[in-house]
Amino acid sequence: MRESRIKKSLQNFPVTPNLLDYEKECETFDWKSLALCFDGLPAGGLNIAHEAIDRHANGALANKPALIWLGENNQRIEYSFFKIKQESAKFANVLKTLGISKGDRVFTLSTRLPELYIAAIGILKNLSVMCPLFSQFGPEPILQRLQRGDAKALVTTKSLFEKKVRPFLAELPQLQAILLIDSEENESDQILSLKKLMNQASSEFEIPFTDPEDMSILHFTSGTTGMPKGVVHVHKAAYAHWMSGKYVLDFHPDDIYWCTADPGWVTGTSYGIITPWLHGITNIVDEAEFDAKRWYSTLQNEKITIWYTAPTAIRRLMRIDNNPLKEYDLSNLRLIQSVGEPLNPEAIVWGMQKLNMPIHDNWWQTETGAIMIANLISQDIILGSMGRPLPGIKVAIVHQNENGTITEIQEPNKEGDLALKPNWPSMFRTYLHDEERYKKSFVQGWYISGDLAYKDKNGYFHFVGRADDIIKTSGHMVGPFEVESALMEHPSVAEAGVIGKPDPMIGQLVKAFVSLKNGFSPSEELKRELLGFGRKKLGSAIAPKEIEFEQNLPKTRSGKIMRRLLKAREMGLPEGDISTLEN
Ligand code: ATP
Ligand code: MG
Repeated sequence: MRESRIKKSLQNFPVTPNLLDYEKECETFDWKSLALCFDGLPAGGLNIAHEAIDRHANGALANKPALIWLGENNQRIEYSFFKIKQESAKFANVLKTLGISKGDRVFTLSTRLPELYIAAIGILKNLSVMCPLFSQFGPEPILQRLQRGDAKALVTTKSLFEKKVRPFLAELPQLQAILLIDSEENESDQILSLKKLMNQASSEFEIPFTDPEDMSILHFTSGTTGMPKGVVHVHKAAYAHWMSGKYVLDFHPDDIYWCTADPGWVTGTSYGIITPWLHGITNIVDEAEFDAKRWYSTLQNEKITIWYTAPTAIRRLMRIDNNPLKEYDLSNLRLIQSVGEPLNPEAIVWGMQKLNMPIHDNWWQTETGAIMIANLISQDIILGSMGRPLPGIKVAIVHQNENGTITEIQEPNKEGDLALKPNWPSMFRTYLHDEERYKKSFVQGWYISGDLAYKDKNGYFHFVGRADDIIKTSGHMVGPFEVESALMEHPSVAEAGVIGKPDPMIGQLVKAFVSLKNGFSPSEELKRELLGFGRKKLGSAIAPKEIEFEQNLPKTRSGKIMRRLLKAREMGLPEGDISTLEN
C-alpha cells in the first residue's frame, strides 16, 4: 500500500503544540491525573457548568469574552465569562421556580442564538438534562424526540413553536413548560416568556452537589444508518473533553476558536460549547448557515486560530474554485480539524494548496462523547487516515468469529471492526429506553463501533466504511470511502456516494452517484470517462461499474451522505427513517 505523508516539523509552529511526544504521552497518561485540571464544586462533586463557566467567571478570566455571537444580520455581541455565569444562573433559577429539577429533560429547539448557549449552561447548573434538537427538523422528528426523551421543558422561539410544536401539543402531556425566547408575555401557565422570567430571576445560583455520574446530556444520533438513538452522557465526560481540547484542538490561552457544528449534533455541544469553555477559550458562534464568503470573512475578521469543521463544508469550499489566501488574510489560523465523515485525501491536498495548511481528520461518535482517534497538529499526517488513538484510549481492529469470539487483528492493513475498550469518562452510559441495544454493542469487553477500519504499520487507523455500507463484490470487500475518494480526484467530481447494488452474478455491483463541480455537466461521454478513470485508479475489481449523476446527494442535516437512502431508492425499497434527511 502506497503511503502519502505530510511531514510536520517543529520549526513551523507559531506556538509550541501541547503534545509533542505522542508515544510517551500514551505510555504515561492516566485519567485520574486530570482531576488536577478541574476545580470541583464548592458543594462537592463535579459539574460541567461550574468547570466551563463559573470557575473562570470567579477568577482572572471574568471579563474575557467567552462567546462572540455573530448574528445573521451582521450583529456582533460579546459575552464575558462573568456575563454567561450570571445569565445561566438566571436560567437555572427559572427552571427551579418552575419545579424542573435534577434529571428532568429540558429540550432546546433554536437556531444558534446566545440564549441557546446560556440555556445549555443553566440546564446543567440545575442538574437537569440538556437535550438539544436541530432547529431545522420538521415537526414529526421533533415530536418523536420530545416523546422518546420524556421532555419536561422546551426552550424555543415563537416561530419554531408555532410551526413545529403547537400543532402536536396535545400529544405531549408530560411537557410542563415551554419557554419562548422572544416572547414578551406569558400566554398561559405552560407557554411562558423566557425574557420575563429571566428578568425576575436572581443572577445568583449555587450549583448543588453533582455526582460525576449524574446525567448531563441526552443526544440523538445522526440517523445515518437508521432510527436515531438517544445517547446518555454524564458530567464526568468533561475529563475527555478537556483532554481532547488540549491534545487535538491544541488549545492555548489566547486562541480564538470556531466550531461550525450546530449544537443539535454532538460536535456542536461537546466542541461547540463545553470543550472551549473548559479551557477558558473564546468561542465564536455564527448564527448564519454556510456561505463561503461569509466563512472566509469570519476566519479573517475574528482572527480565528483554531477551526473545527466537517468534510461536507470543506467539499463545499472546494467546489468554488478561488484562491482564499489572495482574497482574505487568514494568517491567524494555525489548525484545522475535521470530523463527521471520512475526509478524502483530495480535501487535505486542497487545504495544503489553497489554505497553506493541511486539514486534520479525527474520528468519534455520539456514543463516545469525545474525540477518540485524531491526526494531531504536531504529528505527521498520513493521507486518508483518521490518525491515532488519543492517550488513554485503547482502539483495536477486531474480528468476531461465528461463535462470537473476538480476536484482535495484529496484522497491519487488515480490515475488521473498529472496536474500543471502554474506560474513558465520556463513553455513553446507555441508549435511552433501549438497554438491550446498549448491551448488544459490547462483546467481551469491547465496544463495537459499527465502523470498519484497518490499522497501518505506523499505528494510524483508516476508515473503510460503516459495517452496513460495505460492498461485497465478486468476493471482494469494498469500502465506499475508497471509491468515493478516487472519483473525487477527477477534476469534474465535487462529491460521490457509492453503494452496492444487488447483482445475481457478482453479489453486489459497485455503483457511484456523482455530483459535478460548477462548469461541468452530465453527459454519456463524461460517464465513460469517469468509469475509465475509476478503473485506472482502483482496478477493475473495485472500480464502479455504474455511474449516475446526482447533483443533490441525500444527506443528513449534519452533512453526512446517506448511502442507505441511495441504496433504498436504487432498489425501490422503503426509505426507512428519514427524520434527519436534509431538504
Ligand atoms: P446513526 O448512528 O444514527 O446511524 P451516525 O452514526 O451518523 O448516525 P454520529 O454519532 O453523529 O451518528 O456519527 C458517528 C459516525 O460518523 C461514525 O460512526 C462514523 O461512521 C462517522 N464518522 C465520524 N467521523 C468520521 C471520520 N473522521 N471518518 C470517517 N467516518 C467518520
Ligand atoms: Mg452511529
